Amino acid sequence: MRNSTDHQLFDFVIVGAGPCGTAAAVEIAKSIPDAKIALVGGEPHPAYERPLLSKSALLDLSGELPPKILYGGLQGLSTLGVSTYIPDFATDINPIEKTITLASNQTIAYSKLLLATGSAPRRLNVPGAGLQCVHYLRTFEEARSIAACLGPAKKIVIIGGGFIGLEVAATARRAGCDVTVLEAGDRLLARGVPNIISARLTEKFKQEGVKLIFNASVSALQGSEYVTGVELSDGMKLPTDAVIIGIGNIPTTELALKAGLLIEDGIVTNHDGRTSDPDIYAAGDVARGPQGLSSHPNYTKRLEAWDPAMRQGVACAKVMSGKGEAEGFSPWIWSDQFDWDLQIAGHGELADESVIREGNAPDTITVLQLYQGRLIGLVSLNDSLNMTVGRRALKSNAEVDVSLAIDRSSRFKYAFI
Ligand code: FAD
Ligand code: NAP
Repeated sequence: MRNSTDHQLFDFVIVGAGPCGTAAAVEIAKSIPDAKIALVGGEPHPAYERPLLSKSALLDLSGELPPKILYGGLQGLSTLGVSTYIPDFATDINPIEKTITLASNQTIAYSKLLLATGSAPRRLNVPGAGLQCVHYLRTFEEARSIAACLGPAKKIVIIGGGFIGLEVAATARRAGCDVTVLEAGDRLLARGVPNIISARLTEKFKQEGVKLIFNASVSALQGSEYVTGVELSDGMKLPTDAVIIGIGNIPTTELALKAGLLIEDGIVTNHDGRTSDPDIYAAGDVARGPQGLSSHPNYTKRLEAWDPAMRQGVACAKVMSGKGEAEGFSPWIWSDQFDWDLQIAGHGELADESVIREGNAPDTITVLQLYQGRLIGLVSLNDSLNMTVGRRALKSNAEVDVSLAIDRSSRFKYAFI
């Protein structure tokens, strides 16, 4: 018998109560109202809107609770049929017995398991990285520590010019801080946007008074107890009151490793979210799955964003509960930086051609990313209407009429054949 009778048995155990795991639990409860579901959450709060933590909400974290808790918190979840919420950290897994051990030493058994353990900030490995006032940002508690450092004329050095770095830099400027961003590469957000968008962002950040240093190599953080400076390998020294590090995330695969699952920068899944163990699924930031692109049938990716995490959670839940199929979708990400709205959709990283459509209003631009003449990705700056229209075209992998796409007197929808 595979399930241990000594432990409380759940039909579905979900480890990780972020947006992905929680959306999955709610979807299973909706599909099978009498299912026994356990949602195991390693943070002190049920799922909350992480994206708020780097944006303007960072300036108002005076309450004891995260600014927006999803699904009405524990009471709301219970009403939706997710009545067993275990605020604990899963430390071990036995895929033969189909059990999960928690930090409290409790062991629970599952029929089907979803790993939605997310990702965690990559650590900077230089001398001084453990000093006080050196911060990473993933959780509400970390956001509160950062919020306490922000204020007029405070010197803040941000390491990493990616999403975390830029959003926090914009928010810190709003708080009146003197902000410097150190980026290892030669442009901002290189992993997420094309050159022209990086260039526009660079201009914007400079205009807003943020200092940007590219090709920066941090050699040490200085200070005895508290950080007082950042040293670069070219000898430059930047005095600072606090350092915030956003140099990418690493998938939280410890449990998956213990379960012997296939891992390749994320837990490898099929298009249903199933891992190499047929009773274990994975979704959200931690999972690497096929992207369902007819042009690139073998392409797999780990999507690290809010909307994809929730969609993957729901898709996995449908398959796990046997009540539906995983629907493919095109990933979509947004980022707010100062008064600018950046949106990214699809898989522009696979494009062989970029088409730039300047907008009619100032600071608006849309980049269409094509593969063999068809839309595969889209990036918009301050043009959510184009993004809405373009996302529809992305769904059908539409062919693009380049002359109409760049003609801003022609309506955007006519660019798609
Ligand atoms: P997570 O949100 O990481 O949740 C995983 C949960 O699992 C965590 O609570 C973790 O503690 C828990 N866990 C891990 N291991 C265990 C264990 N062994 N036992 C129990 N629990 C465990 N995306 C956007 O698209 N737009 C944005 O504007 C945006 N802004 C962001 C701003 C910030 C500051 C951050 C940090 C992220 C932002 N993101 C944004 C990214 C988005 O929040 C993530 O992609 C999303 O949260 C991923 O959801 P997830 O459920 O897969 O993982
Ligand atoms: P990120 O977007 O990958 O950006 C990290 C940046 O840091 C990259 O530009 C990287 O350059 C640079 N970098 C790496 N090592 C460095 C070093 N030693 N010194 C200076 N720069 C260095 O990751 P992130 O900003 O840390 O975000 C973390 C996670 O949160 C990601 O999963 C992200 O998707 C998510 N998030 C998303 C949003 C959003 O979608 N709006 C907002 C916040 C957070 P290279 O690329 O050259 O390595």
